[in-house]
Amino acid sequence: MDYDVLVVGAGIFGLATAYHVMEANPRLKIALVDMRGDVGQGATAKSAGGFRNLFTSETNRMLADSSISFYLSIQEGGRDLGMELVGYLILRSKEQFEEIKGAALQMEKEGKLRIYRKEELKKMIDMNFDFDGDEEAEILGVKNVDYGLFGPKCGHIDADKLAYFYRDELKAGGAEFIFNTRVEGIIVEPEVKLGIPREPRAWQQVRFAGVKTNKGEIRADRLVIAAGGWTQDLLNPLGIECLARPKKRQIFTIRPRTEEQKALFYTQGFNEYGVLPMTFLPTGHYFRVDRRDGTFWMGFSDYYRPFSTDENPEENYYYDNIYPIIVKYFPQFEDVRIDNMWAGLYAINYVDENPVVFKRSNMVVATGGSGSGILKGDAVGRIAAALLLGKEYAELYGGYKIPSNKLEVRGRRLEPERFVF
Ligand SMILES: Cc1cc2nc3c(=O)[nH]c(=O)nc-3n(C[C@H](O)[C@H](O)[C@H](O)COP(=O)(O)OP(=O)(O)OC[C@H]3O[C@@H](n4cnc5c(N)ncnc54)[C@H](O)[C@@H]3O)c2cc1C
Repeated sequence: MDYDVLVVGAGIFGLATAYHVMEANPRLKIALVDMRGDVGQGATAKSAGGFRNLFTSETNRMLADSSISFYLSIQEGGRDLGMELVGYLILRSKEQFEEIKGAALQMEKEGKLRIYRKEELKKMIDMNFDFDGDEEAEILGVKNVDYGLFGPKCGHIDADKLAYFYRDELKAGGAEFIFNTRVEGIIVEPEVKLGIPREPRAWQQVRFAGVKTNKGEIRADRLVIAAGGWTQDLLNPLGIECLARPKKRQIFTIRPRTEEQKALFYTQGFNEYGVLPMTFLPTGHYFRVDRRDGTFWMGFSDYYRPFSTDENPEENYYYDNIYPIIVKYFPQFEDVRIDNMWAGLYAINYVDENPVVFKRSNMVVATGGSGSGILKGDAVGRIAAALLLGKEYAELYGGYKIPSNKLEVRGRRLEPERFVF
């Protein structure tokens, strides 16, 4: 046996899982294999890094709150993760606000949220709020901004730095990284070898003995498959359902050049940095500022798009689907062209958009990060590690306990999330 535990995929899920397996049992020989040249080069590096603790479902709250608190504790301990509590500002029309009013008022009572009215927002942000009678706006689905829900324990994290934190801890603990190595298949063997042809037969118990890669076999006692949007490619030959399928998601960046654009970047009054919070428009478009290179980042998650592992960004997507909407709300972006763009994969679980973590034989699968894999990453790692180590419950950071099969495919029944935007 080459390793006690082999993790396929060194994104946030694979890293956090390996880290918590190592924390629980430092004597295990652990390796992570990835087709790319370093950790977090899949969806993890492509993410907007946004995090929020604003959820109505108990499961979402536990996964998000515990992970965010863990990351904050790391940063407060002196390891910079680029975490900035710039806040989330969720802009809603009157009708949209009515749909979530109960949940929003409850969160406001708990001190998690502040609800701004249009009149207050008008004094704070230089943008358009009213589109009544604007035919073009109606065609584009642009809605009025009547409310702003502001979450202060929200913001963004540098996903690269987060991945490097786990990598460095794992290396220090003796884990090995096998980069530039593509896993081409999972080795299936009978639990008890009988030495007969065509084993394992359908009636034999199977175990997953390792992986075949473009550089040869790697054998391990236990496997973790955390291959993000590529996970189903590895599970399809085994007939294992993981619920999550890949879709391209893109980010476009713009450097503010005019005084009006710079003023928007440095919108005051929401956070200690004096910048615009991570902002969600009533149309679902989002944007954030990046203080490291002084740019705006913009994105929008479209529904009717093929399931595919294509990761090429499409410039036209910005001009067709983002620019016309953004410029309605923020005329200061008139005629602005993008400076940069990239794309990555959401591994989307359309059942409840929560991660999927389950065990089959000696193999644990952790995927389905959808659009919130970073902000739930540490919790997912703890759950996957608990499953791998045969524990009934996973202990999340901050003392939350969650059954380690809570995110399993079979019999899955998670509470619906009402805070979707
Ligand atoms: C544009 C965009 C914006 C996002 N914004 C946010 C956000 O604001 N907040 C948030 O919380 N989340 C966000 N996400 C989602 C988040 O990035 C993902 O949920 C998270 O990174 C998933 O981590 P993962 O480890 O499952 O997958 P990945 O990071 O994709 O890791 C999978 C790894 O497996 C490797 N791999 C795959 N197949 C093989 C193979 N056959 N052999 C070897 N290696 C293999 C890949 O190279 C990769 O490194 C965003 C995602 C995108 C694309």
